[in-house]
Amino acid sequence: MGGKDRILAVKTLTIEGEGENPNLGQNITPDAPLTVWKVTEFKRVIDPPKSRMRATQVRTAQFPFALATVVNQNMALDGDVAWNVNLDGNSTRLSDRAAFDRRMELLHHPLTILRAALDPGAKLSNFRKDGDQELVDVTTAHGDSLTLALDAITRLPLSVSSMTDQPNLGDVAIKTSFSQYEDVNGMKLPMRFTTKIDKWVQSDIRVSKNTLNGDAADLAAPAALSASLPAPANPPVEVTVEQVAPGIWWLAGSGNHRSVVFAFADHLTLFELPESEARAKAVIEKTHSLAFGKPLTEVIVSHHHFDHSAGLRVAVSEGLTIITQSGNAAFFKDLAARKHTIVPDDLARNGGAPPIRIRTVDDQLVLKDEAMEVDLYHVKDNSHCDTLLMGWVPRDHILVQADLYDSGWLKYPWADNLKANVELRKLKVGKDVPIHGRIESYADVLKRMQEKQ
Ligand SMILES: [Zn+2]
Ligand SMILES: [Zn+2]
Repeated sequence: MGGKDRILAVKTLTIEGEGENPNLGQNITPDAPLTVWKVTEFKRVIDPPKSRMRATQVRTAQFPFALATVVNQNMALDGDVAWNVNLDGNSTRLSDRAAFDRRMELLHHPLTILRAALDPGAKLSNFRKDGDQELVDVTTAHGDSLTLALDAITRLPLSVSSMTDQPNLGDVAIKTSFSQYEDVNGMKLPMRFTTKIDKWVQSDIRVSKNTLNGDAADLAAPAALSASLPAPANPPVEVTVEQVAPGIWWLAGSGNHRSVVFAFADHLTLFELPESEARAKAVIEKTHSLAFGKPLTEVIVSHHHFDHSAGLRVAVSEGLTIITQSGNAAFFKDLAARKHTIVPDDLARNGGAPPIRIRTVDDQLVLKDEAMEVDLYHVKDNSHCDTLLMGWVPRDHILVQADLYDSGWLKYPWADNLKANVELRKLKVGKDVPIHGRIESYADVLKRMQEKQ
């Protein structure tokens, strides 16, 4: 790359370019390519001696999206302190886990990993060859472990990989590959970075300009931020209860993910265990408190998107049957079987996990006994997700839907799709009891969608 002295002499590196950020866990089916944010104005400034980094970029959604489709991001790291800066200039300190991930991101560059490897406090081990690659494990002076791969002929770094936890996927490898090296003031620097999480590309950046020792502005964490505590790993979750009809409760509270509980004659059924392991557990606890000793036995998972399937492993751990569209079954089996050793969840801690029980729905399924009827329908021709279920309670004319409509959206890309599916199933909807947003009459839903389509 230009030699040890050059590497150690670098004060700052500024990387500018553009590329893509695929949207993990938000594809139209579990096997479909990920939807993509296009990245422009990408700029990453790194101060290797001080372990500081600032990354700014603009991302534009390349898929139908109901919130802001252009997003400015400003992400920073100073040693162990990681934070984001919002558009108003306010900084929010992130959790220690997020700071770890950002520290790894800083080291997923040839310059920073080599500098870390050259530190007298670093340990290098397990030197090995694999085809035309030479690999070595690096434990940094800070104690972080990464693997560096070099091209055996050019001796240039080809990739850096490290392990982390992704809440849905568990233990995952993050690997950044480097290519298209250019010469910058006697140093070789890559013009292309591709980062994969597990098998999915997370970021693909094409560099237009590498600048060494340019003006890096101030990358230090503000004093007040350093003095503040990191965000908790599991922020507190509040779950509220609202009865919407006899034997039907809507669980809302903090955040914008809701669940619905249905009381059948001898058991309870949940619609959705979303957002996080913590929320899923809080929702189950609240459900147990609702109805008279009836056991909770099953949960309908509307679709596979990571925010909606976040409670899947909690459900498996609790022995609940998962009811979902057929297209999600194989993916859910995989999620339930994955290793979670880095940040163990309940299912991992339980060790001998119960086998996942899945009841699949192709086009429709009627759940019915003398106390309750809930009809489940596959949502047809939806551009957000092709493995999506909605629920219908004929007795009360209640529609339960996820990601078709939210009272708080900026616009309604799926207004026609919602109306078409309601008409297809000949539903005389009175009330929308949603997984996002608030409960509204269907007349109000139609009115708002018309105004902001
Ligand atoms: Zn979704
Ligand atoms: Zn959603």
